Amino acid sequence: MDELNAKSLTALVGLTPAKACTCPLRPCAGWESFTEERWPKAQMRRLGTLRDPEVYEPTQEEHHPNGTRYASPDAPIAVDFFPCNVSDVYACDTCERVLLRYTEFGGYYVDHRVRELDARLVV
Ligand SMILES: [Zn+2]
Repeated sequence: MDELNAKSLTALVGLTPAKACTCPLRPCAGWESFTEERWPKAQMRRLGTLRDPEVYEPTQEEHHPNGTRYASPDAPIAVDFFPCNVSDVYACDTCERVLLRYTEFGGYYVDHRVRELDARLVV
């Protein structure tokens, strides 16, 4: 899988202007929780990952220099920080949106999270 960084990530969005979405995921400007059944597997293309294979335990630290929070729609998409640093990058073939996705593993649950990529927020 391709390893992506802030620059290549931004380039992905530049190439694919977003259209109105027809896929079942609701608008997800901030990190949204979803169930696997709602993930439109057939139309999702995996573009690469933001995980660094050299790093065994990626940092859990988040990056919010301007007072945003985890789920803020305007929170920076900081590729070296959680949760971008554990995310894979997908494109929807139908609406051409680029999405970041990762899975949180709790003691008794698995929580999938998705966020739409906004190139203006990538740092
Ligand atoms: Zn879509």
